[in-house]
Amino acid sequence: MPYRITLIPGDGTGPEIIEAAIPAIEATGVPIEWEVQHAGLSVMEEYGTPLPEKVLESLRRNRVGLKGPLITPIGTGIRSVNVALRQALDLYTCLRPCKSYPGVRSRYQNVDLVVVRENTEDLYAGVEFAPGTEQAQQITQLAPERIRPESAISIKAISAFATRRVVKFAFDYAVANGRKKVNAIAKANIMKFTDGLFYQTAREVAEEYKGRIAYDETLVDALCMQVVQRPENFDVLVLPNLYGDIISDLCAGLIGGLGIAPGANIGTDCALFEPVHGSAPRYAGQNRINPTAVILSAVLMLRHLGEAAAADRLENAVAAVIAEGKYVTYDFKADRNDPSAVGTKEMGKAIAEKVK
Ligand code: NAD
Repeated sequence: MPYRITLIPGDGTGPEIIEAAIPAIEATGVPIEWEVQHAGLSVMEEYGTPLPEKVLESLRRNRVGLKGPLITPIGTGIRSVNVALRQALDLYTCLRPCKSYPGVRSRYQNVDLVVVRENTEDLYAGVEFAPGTEQAQQITQLAPERIRPESAISIKAISAFATRRVVKFAFDYAVANGRKKVNAIAKANIMKFTDGLFYQTAREVAEEYKGRIAYDETLVDALCMQVVQRPENFDVLVLPNLYGDIISDLCAGLIGGLGIAPGANIGTDCALFEPVHGSAPRYAGQNRINPTAVILSAVLMLRHLGEAAAADRLENAVAAVIAEGKYVTYDFKADRNDPSAVGTKEMGKAIAEKVK
């Protein structure tokens, strides 16, 4: 029986990278039946929403999806279609492994760390009030000495429930993948209650893994310095939503950029795999951008399906093409206009041909 997987090509450069990735994924021989579903800008006119219910239905039914980046049209009432998808399906963990591949131009070699980001709450929940609204004024009244009149207000909520399950995911991931340490990242010296609860809950979970996986805590500002000085000192990082968003882009920078940074959004019932990068709209239709991030997201997807050998073969093929440096896109070159760079499709084809 083939795996039935929801495929969302996405907006901007999304369809190009997905099209380039499919032959490489299929070269592994894992039987997959793709169920194509459209979301984002491209369906706005037809459905009046960037996130039609049938896309969510398909993901709920198939429980696994691969997606290109989506653009959120302005004025739809949806803050971000990507965030809405994660919230609707309760994809509470965002997993972003950051690994150096020999041949990538980067200031760092041998980076191998994993960012585990909470995906459902924190400032990302979008509980915001515009200046002058009744709610903003009511909240201002709670601490008039610390909130200036006419302030815009965002609410940061962190729960033990959401923290526990994401930290547990980080520890289980560490156990399953031979990792040694989980480091909880927050700013609890300033946000004593919200980030304090994050640390307190993380410590409780860490106790359950004592003797198997080490546990440490680093303040998010200190992490920024330490991880650019010595990324090799870090293993698995677990963070609340907003810090996780920022730190995963920083870590993508350590390994050579967004073109090679994969991601997964994982919940109890469903998992959605996607590159960290956005739709890079200024490159749309140019067959120019790097398909690696989406192919490495598919590597994570194959591992999730239990197809570890196929995942290894696909990852090895990506590594081989990068190491060879012959069929790689512009972002691997010192000069972005280097004429020896190949296109999106050609790099995908070279990877497909290397899958053994
Ligand atoms: P972006 O990631 O699309 O692009 C930023 C720059 O990074 C690009 O101009 C390009 O230079 C580089 N880049 C990105 N992907 C690359 C690749 N595969 N190969 C080579 N270079 C690459 O970020 P943005 O410009 O801030 O966002 C554009 C749109 O994407 C926005 O509408 C945003 O909302 C959306 N977005 C979607 C997602 C998602 O679907 N998960 C994530 C981030 C942004």
